[in-house]
Amino acid sequence: MTTTAPTTAPAPGTEEIQDAGHVDVLIVGAGVSGIGAAYHLRDQFPGRTLVILDAQDNRGGTWWTHRYPGVRSDSDLFTYGYRFKPWRGPSIAAGEEILAYLDEVIDEYDLGPYIRYRHRVTAASWSTGDRRWTVEVTRDDTGQRLRFTTGFLWMCQGYYNHAKPYRPRWEGMDRFQGLVIHPQRWPEDLDLAGKRVVVIGSGATAATLIPAIAGKAEHVTMLQRSPTYFFAPPTTHELAVMLDPLNLPDEWMHEIMRRQYMTQYHWLARTSFEAPDELHTFLIESMRPLLPEGFDIDKHFTPRYRPWQQRIAVVPDGDLFAALREGKASIVTDTIETFTEHGIKVSSGEEIPADIVVTATGFNMSVLGDVAFTVDSEPVDFTERVTWRGIMINGLPNMAYVFGYFRHSWTLRVDLVSDLVVRLLANMQDKGATMVVPALRPEDTDMQLRPFSDPENFNPGYVMRSQHILFKQGDREPWTHMHEHEQEREFLPGADLDDGTLVYR
Ligand SMILES: Cc1cc2nc3c(=O)[nH]c(=O)nc-3n(C[C@H](O)[C@H](O)[C@H](O)COP(=O)(O)OP(=O)(O)OC[C@H]3O[C@@H](n4cnc5c(N)ncnc54)[C@H](O)[C@@H]3O)c2cc1C
Repeated sequence: MTTTAPTTAPAPGTEEIQDAGHVDVLIVGAGVSGIGAAYHLRDQFPGRTLVILDAQDNRGGTWWTHRYPGVRSDSDLFTYGYRFKPWRGPSIAAGEEILAYLDEVIDEYDLGPYIRYRHRVTAASWSTGDRRWTVEVTRDDTGQRLRFTTGFLWMCQGYYNHAKPYRPRWEGMDRFQGLVIHPQRWPEDLDLAGKRVVVIGSGATAATLIPAIAGKAEHVTMLQRSPTYFFAPPTTHELAVMLDPLNLPDEWMHEIMRRQYMTQYHWLARTSFEAPDELHTFLIESMRPLLPEGFDIDKHFTPRYRPWQQRIAVVPDGDLFAALREGKASIVTDTIETFTEHGIKVSSGEEIPADIVVTATGFNMSVLGDVAFTVDSEPVDFTERVTWRGIMINGLPNMAYVFGYFRHSWTLRVDLVSDLVVRLLANMQDKGATMVVPALRPEDTDMQLRPFSDPENFNPGYVMRSQHILFKQGDREPWTHMHEHEQEREFLPGADLDDGTLVYR
């Protein structure tokens, strides 16, 4: 372990804030991003001291929080896996397989000793005089409060609040006699036998949960306000099946399949901009043969937005459609009028009977882990700030964040951002600088600020609901983010760190 944090905790509530020592780099979050960032830091700067803090009691972030039946990636694991660690399984993986992969990374690169669980970061204060962040932490198990200091803060906190899922309130919920469950809080011992389940939502969560429980419950109804685009590739890519007899080294397979999936996703992204109608038709028509005869595709599977304006939900081998064909699941596309004692009444007047309602309605986004930031005693209002390449924030020194791709594999960007951050640390070292801060150039000060996400480009509900609390982007480089991977993988590795938008001292 690289810090001097005490290990014995005083009685909860009685303690003063305790000094937990100083590290060169402090990473917040032990999910896919934090583990990837730690690998890259250790790889390039093995001598730097490090600690990784996570509020949860285990690694994995999203994959630890979401353990509902059937939870799985909808990205292929060759691109969702790291560049440096071959994936050996089928393209689409279950949540626990992703956790096992992360465990292998932690073990192989000896990252375990750096991670501290149940350490919730509540505040981070930068002092220019001291050239360091002071990071305040509350231990979720003991209530103990700790204070770390660090020269560089690397925020790998993900994009949503793990502790408080988005739980919309509908009329009549109080009188509903059944159970209401959020997939972020799935009860381990839930018995579905003989139960009528209504899953509210139409995104990836609903699409993975429904086939997993359809065989166990009496019936599952997917209740959606509006449809989502689905795509049903095979769980194992046909190229992987073809290559299998060649018994290639894992590294080769990983690289070949990464390139295959990247090409596929780049085509998807390009087509969504250049020929959205064709892509729309392709997606709708590829579903048609998988659905029951006479199924109302227009009503239930034809979204109101352009493909790629929201993530396309992947249903490997079409398992959601199989559940529909077998009559184990059905879809209602309508708005909820009210919960009743025994179900949900929708606007058409139909009452869907339910013993269990699952609200697969998404997340509450959080801004940089809901940490209260101050810079030289001034509280930071993120709504007035602008991103630097989707990696740093103007006016926040020695702080980088990892925000992966929403529409491609998140992890592709973890590797790219980590490369840039270690390059930045090396640049600071070369200059003898102890501080680097993105700052608007004189010509940038009157630039037009744009919302975090342009609704024309990407507009899922959880992002649109949170635009008002998120930081902004500008109208020119390098003050923009959310680029496509096909472009960013070209320009990020060569991004100029001395273009005048980063100030070194
Ligand atoms: C069910 C589900 C399926 C998904 N499938 C895919 C997919 O197939 N492909 C894809 O690309 N993306 C997918 N995503 C998106 C997914 O969130 C990202 O892929 C990725 O897991 C994010 O990793 P992360 O480490 O950045 O953040 P997270 O996984 O959110 O982990 C962040 C960690 O930081 C910790 N943390 C946050 N704030 C603090 C704080 N203040 N103090 C201490 N710790 C803190 C949290 O406790 C958490 O453990 C999916 C998301 C969900 C919910």
